This record gives sequence, structure tokens and C-alpha cells, in this order.
Amino acid sequence: MSTKPSHNLVWDRSTECVPLEERRALQLKKLQDLVERVSVQSPFYRKQFQKKGVKPENIKTLDDLRRLPFTVKDDLRDNYPFELFSTPIQDVVRIHCSSGTTGKPAVSGYTARDMEMWSEIMARSLTAAGATYRDVVHNSYGYGLFTGGLGIDMGARKIGAATVPMSGGINNRQIMLMEDFGATVLTCTPSYALVLAETAAQMGVHVQSMIKLKVGIFGAEPWTEEMRAEIEAKLRLEAYDIFGMGEVIGPGVSMECAYHNGLHIQDDHFLPEIINPDTGESLPPGEQGELVITTLTKEAMPLIRYRTRDITRLAADLCPCGRTSARHFKLAGRTDDMLIIKGVNVFPSQIEGVLLRHGELAPQYVLVVDRVNNLDRLEIQVEAREEFYDLGEEAMEQFTHKLYHEMQQLLYISSKITIVPQRTIQRSEGKAKRVIDKRKELTSGALI
Ligand SMILES: [Zn+2]
Repeated sequence: MSTKPSHNLVWDRSTECVPLEERRALQLKKLQDLVERVSVQSPFYRKQFQKKGVKPENIKTLDDLRRLPFTVKDDLRDNYPFELFSTPIQDVVRIHCSSGTTGKPAVSGYTARDMEMWSEIMARSLTAAGATYRDVVHNSYGYGLFTGGLGIDMGARKIGAATVPMSGGINNRQIMLMEDFGATVLTCTPSYALVLAETAAQMGVHVQSMIKLKVGIFGAEPWTEEMRAEIEAKLRLEAYDIFGMGEVIGPGVSMECAYHNGLHIQDDHFLPEIINPDTGESLPPGEQGELVITTLTKEAMPLIRYRTRDITRLAADLCPCGRTSARHFKLAGRTDDMLIIKGVNVFPSQIEGVLLRHGELAPQYVLVVDRVNNLDRLEIQVEAREEFYDLGEEAMEQFTHKLYHEMQQLLYISSKITIVPQRTIQRSEGKAKRVIDKRKELTSGALI
């Protein structure tokens, strides 16, 4: 899908629009350097390479990437805290880690050059959304160990925008400051953008006339095109998707341009692959599978073939914006968000897509999975809008029945539909909690 873009700003044309052949030659050179470097500096990768019988001289083409071993999330936890670092701690200037609700968190270290590279890719990302030094960036991503807030902050400083370091929470104050400071760019999770829209409405703040937002940069959780339309309508802005993860660097691994036809991967730093998550086999562009990333330039904690557990596919063509980087499409979900209910694979984003097509329903929902008499049971709780109650009792019942059948057609299993009153589902300040799996009392969420 490529509609007329609202702008075509590029932060660094000489790098981002470099001819494809040149880009690939540079990637190969960096990959060779990386393998050489970690073979010497990283005891972890030295051992992994020995196990697989690979040596730096085996990397002759970009396809030889497939000879290298995968790195998985558990490798990060098993080597807690610093065993995966390739540089001594005196060269490290920043340490981040995941929220790690179970056990030890995944740690990520950065040298000064890593921080500079992160600022650079965030400057590219903000510029791809049309942000410039004239903008006021209202940054509601969390500051702290989570990489979202500080990542956006560094990029905004690099492009010379005025940043308001809000973090999430105290919703009324967020709206007041957005209005008073004339925020033009909003950065937060997509679910929190909807919370802010709701807060503005409750406060009687008319978004169109009182808030100047023109752009929103949303990420850290998978979201659908239906969710994009909802946010754009409510906050009167153009919504851009950004992707990243703390283990790899933070936000800015990939970012949409104004064509909104996939996310440009900063592949001069992060080499992407798509694999079949069950077999590990590489898949060609266009085929859906798990995104795997090799950090080409990261110094403190390089990762080789890191399995992100995010499900997507790569574009086969080049984007009309002029950037020659690889693109991935919107995430279909994460392998660890995927629910297996009665043996069927279900992604929360599939359900979200159906719910948001109905004007009678609000974009607030939660999936409750339980096991009763050894049988899985899925309940979809979703909030009603005024329009639902306007239907009248009989039509309300018919509507619920129709939704039940739509879900059955989509998921191939039956579910219980519960339409609940407005503002009864818990709101989050960061990543939304979409799943309550009582079978293991575990919930999942994206990581950056
Ligand atoms: Zn583009």
C-alpha cells in the first residue's frame, strides 16, 4: 500500500539511500569483521563457533551467515549479568535490562560508540516520521532501565527537537502539558495513545483545536492497521510504527517512512533474516516466519543470529522513498504471545483486527484463557461504546451472536464473548496486558 506521502525527509541520504550493491558489500565487510572480532573477544561465541565448526574465514558471502549459530533469549539469562559482553566493563558506558518478571532479566551493555550509533538510528527514525528541530516531542515512553524513553530522547536531541521527558502516568497532566507546550510529536505505546485520547475526552479537551499533534511514533507492542486507524482518528495525527528490542539495542531497529509500506530496518547495523521458527531454516522475502537479527556493529554486546520471537515477513522490493534498506511488515505477533487454544494457534492481534472493525466496540479488550475439565476455554472481554447500548436489547444480543460467529470463522474454535461496560478493562501506562492465561498464570508482552 503506498498512498501519497506527507513528506520525504531523510536524515542521512548518503547512508540510507546508498546503492543496494554498495550496501551489501558494506554488510559483508562488517559481518566478516564481526565474526573475527567475537572469535577473539567473546568466550561465549568462541565456544559456540567451535561447537558448530565455523571459523572467520568461512564467511565469504552474506549467505554464509547461515553457517553461524543462533543466539536465544535464554543465552542472555544463562550468561547473566555480563558474560555476553565482548568488551571489558571499563569500556561500557550504559547498562539496560528487561523488566524480567520471572527470574533474572536480560542485560544489554553499550560502549560510547554503541550509544552514538543508537542516537544516529533514532535520528533517522524520527526524521522518517517527518520530525525536525522545529518539533516538540512529548515522550511518554518510560525512562529508566526500559530502553524506550532514553532511546527516543537521544534521537530527538540529535535532530534538535525540544523533548518533554514525560514517561507514562498521570494522564491528566500529560494532556495539560501537551496542550500548553504545543507538542507536535507524541511517542508512546499504541495502547497508551488510546488512553491519552480517552483522557482528553474526559477532560473536555478538544483534540482538533487544542492539541497540535501531527505525528505519533508508536511501538513496543504489536498493533493492527485497525488500531492505527482508531488512533489517527482520535488523536488527529499520522501514526508511525517503530520497532526495536532492548537486547538488540532499543527502539530504532526499524521504522516506517511516510509511505507506510513496511518498516525500514537499519540494516547497515542490524542484518535481518526470516526463519521457520520450528526448523530454523531460512525463508525468502515474502514468506512469514521469525525475525532473526545479527548486530553488525555493536561493540559491547554483539549478538549473532538473535531470535527475536517476532513473527513477520520481509519485503521483496525497494521502497519508493529512496531508502535502500530491507523492510519488514507489521508484526503479526510474537511466538511467545501466541496462544495455543485447543491445539489452534491464536495471536491476540488477529482478534483485535476483528473487534476494531465494529463501531459498537471500544479498542479495549482482554483475552482470558482457562482450562475447565481438561478443556481449554477462551473468553474475549471487550468494552462497549455508547453505540452498542443504542442498539436496544434485542439487537445487542444479535450483535454478540454475530461476533461469536465471526470469531469462530477466524479462529476455528468457539469462544465466549463478553461485552463489558465502558472503562471497566484495566488501562496500562506502557504495554497493554492483553492476555490472562490462567492455565499457567503467565502473561506476555513485548520487550523494548
Ligand atoms: Zn520508505
